[in-house]
Amino acid sequence: MIRCSILLRMGLKKEDDSVTWSMVSNRHFLSLRLISFFQLGFINKGSRACHLNRATSDVMEVIKMALLKLKGVTKIYQQGKIEVPALRGIDLIVEEGEFTTIFGPSGSGKTTLLNMIGCLDKPSSGSINFGNKELVNLDKKNLAMIRRHNVGFVFQSYNLIPVLTAFENVEFAIRLINKHNKNELRDKVMKILAAVGLEGLENRKPNELSGGQKQRVAIARALVKEPKLVLADEPSANLDSKTSEEVLEVMVKMNKELGTTFIFSTHDPLVMDYARRLIEIRDGLIAKDQRREQDAVLN
Ligand code: ADP
Ligand code: MG
Repeated sequence: MIRCSILLRMGLKKEDDSVTWSMVSNRHFLSLRLISFFQLGFINKGSRACHLNRATSDVMEVIKMALLKLKGVTKIYQQGKIEVPALRGIDLIVEEGEFTTIFGPSGSGKTTLLNMIGCLDKPSSGSINFGNKELVNLDKKNLAMIRRHNVGFVFQSYNLIPVLTAFENVEFAIRLINKHNKNELRDKVMKILAAVGLEGLENRKPNELSGGQKQRVAIARALVKEPKLVLADEPSANLDSKTSEEVLEVMVKMNKELGTTFIFSTHDPLVMDYARRLIEIRDGLIAKDQRREQDAVLN
């Protein structure tokens, strides 16, 4: 949904508060970019964010929105001769900086959806636009490149490398993108480990860490390359509620401080309490999509 008065002024009708991206043509989008360009220039001349007029903040909101756009996404797995429809037509827009939960019963398609978004697998049909790139047309190599540079993963079972220390597990993720010298790299890894609350535990191997600490390493590993998006598939499923809460606090903090977009899958009510957007998925379709006011969410 685009709550945006400027779209109205540009001739897009707003009916029942439901102007969607699919109604925004390329021409409209170009105009939005142009307006944003000029108004951002004005902001750079010393005015402060609070002086933004309504139109400017609307434009910025719209520009901010374009991280992820899914249209008619389906996934059919083949199990021998049987076709298993895991996703049956997902339309979804995710804005930059969101902290969103996808919830639903086991088998409803949560993991499949995260795998499509995270370039781990391709849909059977539909389109996935990520940072203005259409993913469904890319080959495996290019998908891997997008994934490596833009997506961090946090899994239910942590997926840490057992023979590496916490430091080395995190360092390994950033080595793959190879844009830092040795000292920069060390600084970066130490900073992110401290930010997730693991100062002093850098040299421990996974079997010397608790479940919560392992998940913190996994979060640090996901964040160290400064991805646009972190996907977390049932991140608290193996944690007790107190530890889950601590790990979620870490993710909320990183979302606020770094502006990283987070999408979780879960059926843990605790995780849902932290989300600013709740997307319910049932039988491979979005059944409900609900946003909460930021103030209503736990801080
Ligand atoms: P969730 O994460 O919500 O539990 P999944 O996305 O894992 O759901 O699964 C959705 C449906 O797709 C289920 O019916 C599941 O059995 C099926 N499925 C998932 N992965 C595969 C696969 N690799 N091969 C065949 N069927 C699969
Ligand atoms: Mg799953």
